[in-house]
Amino acid sequence: MQDSEDGRYDCVVIGGGIIAAAAGQHLAAAGYRTLLAERDDYGSGTSSRTSRLQHCGLGYLSAAGGSLAGFLAHPLKALECLDLMRRSMRGRAEFVETSPERVRPVTFLVPLTRENAIPRWKAHAASRLMRASDGGRVPLDLRVLTAEEARALPALEGLAGLGAIRGAISFTEYQYVWPERIVVDTIMKARAIGLEALNHTPVTAIRRESDGWIVSLETPGGQRQVRTRAVVNCAGVWVDEVTAMTGSSQVRRNAGEKGTNIVLRLPPHMRGFGIETVTDSGAPFYLIPWGDLHYVGPWNSPSDGRPEGFRASEEEIAAILMQLGRMFPELPLDRDQVLYSWAGARPRSLSPEGSGPSAAVREHDLTSAGLPNVFTFTGGLLMTHREAGRRLTRAVRRRIEPSGAPRALDPTTPLTPDMSVVTERSVEHAVRQEQARTLEDILRRRLSVGWEADLGTAMAETAAKIAGPYLGWSEADAAAQVKHFIDTTERDFGFTARTC
Ligand SMILES: Cc1cc2nc3c(=O)[nH]c(=O)nc-3n(C[C@H](O)[C@H](O)[C@H](O)COP(=O)(O)OP(=O)(O)OC[C@H]3O[C@@H](n4cnc5c(N)ncnc54)[C@H](O)[C@@H]3O)c2cc1C
Repeated sequence: MQDSEDGRYDCVVIGGGIIAAAAGQHLAAAGYRTLLAERDDYGSGTSSRTSRLQHCGLGYLSAAGGSLAGFLAHPLKALECLDLMRRSMRGRAEFVETSPERVRPVTFLVPLTRENAIPRWKAHAASRLMRASDGGRVPLDLRVLTAEEARALPALEGLAGLGAIRGAISFTEYQYVWPERIVVDTIMKARAIGLEALNHTPVTAIRRESDGWIVSLETPGGQRQVRTRAVVNCAGVWVDEVTAMTGSSQVRRNAGEKGTNIVLRLPPHMRGFGIETVTDSGAPFYLIPWGDLHYVGPWNSPSDGRPEGFRASEEEIAAILMQLGRMFPELPLDRDQVLYSWAGARPRSLSPEGSGPSAAVREHDLTSAGLPNVFTFTGGLLMTHREAGRRLTRAVRRRIEPSGAPRALDPTTPLTPDMSVVTERSVEHAVRQEQARTLEDILRRRLSVGWEADLGTAMAETAAKIAGPYLGWSEADAAAQVKHFIDTTERDFGFTARTC
């Protein structure tokens, strides 16, 4: 992409996660001259640490009150949850239709135990409400099973309280095969319609100047300052840190929340099925198939985005194992069976009282907080990222007009080579066309190899050898890249080669 010749932009988008990517794509398509700057690599923050579900939003319905009395007791919260369900169903339909190659359907089961049993008519009403939300565009396949049918399901064998089960709900969820790639795809599409995107480029300062802002960037080539009419802060769990660069540390919108998942091999009869329940404290808890394995979680705790928020602690791993053991008391579960783990810090919206996280997923125009034409997004989710891009673009348009003409939102991009294998073509493409700068950029976010059972460690040397000439690495540089890749894999995923 070409740099803006005069260093002036309509919008600077800060961050390179899924929300920044969607904002960059929608702003560029609307005709805004836009620069996106990500301090690390695209999709390397929370967007790489999700539970990988394009949720249909069924969980929001139970949070919407569960009963008429519950609904009437907290009507605003209930309406917000209904709205989130509707947005989830629409986001699901939109994404499954535009990027079918990036998702796969998974059958999920919700066991209806004595504690969470709901009458059949309510489950059918929920199904109708959900189907109406997306016009039946993508199948939900929601079925309400009797107690007898539930007891006969192999995946529920050994479930605590199976004898007294009231039934089960079965439905289709979609799983992101590879969320990091969705971020990269979105940014590459946006570059094709004029977005200037820079990775490995932290924003270090934001200063007000006459009717706009000056944003300082630390590019790999040195310091650069750009002028912009609007700042679109999509820095995820770090949004408040970035907003504070304007000098206004009073503006807080985010309440981070850490989530941890563990990966293990469950018995063959559970293979391929997802199970959705809640923890003792009422938080969602999933068993999600991942090839022959399952990942289980999330386990949640507060986080401010410090590096520890991106590594599972032993206490969190133990808590997940204990929860799983309560569900399936006969499963032989001990620490050695955890193959690896991952954690991430969710950017949650701060509740209006400022006391903790809320379920809101929304943009904020900070003009009224004394920061003209500064926008942020909180609570952003992968599953509704295109809507986030639209909402931010609408918010910007209420303040400034684009300087260019609109472009196609989803342009046809040139065919990519097979990015599921390490070859000369895939690595060259990652470096030359998709801005990969490190071995981790290549293996984890451009190629799918980094999410195979060995987390990409087996192919690290081969990929580094191929990438070396394209990135100007000496043999020593390539060896250092391999060492760094293996060290960070072991540290961040609690993985050792012996476990693969
Ligand atoms: C355990 C867990 C499970 C989840 N499961 C799901 C799920 O199943 N489905 C779903 O839809 N969502 C899920 N989520 C939520 C989802 O992952 C996040 O909400 C979403 O990825 C947030 O994207 P983002 O772009 O806001 O943040 P990020 O991906 O974190 O992006 C923010 C970016 O800003 C960059 N940045 C920060 N400061 C600067 C700076 N000064 N200069 C430049 N760049 C900067 C960071 O490097 C980072 O890359 C889950 C989250 C967690 C933690």
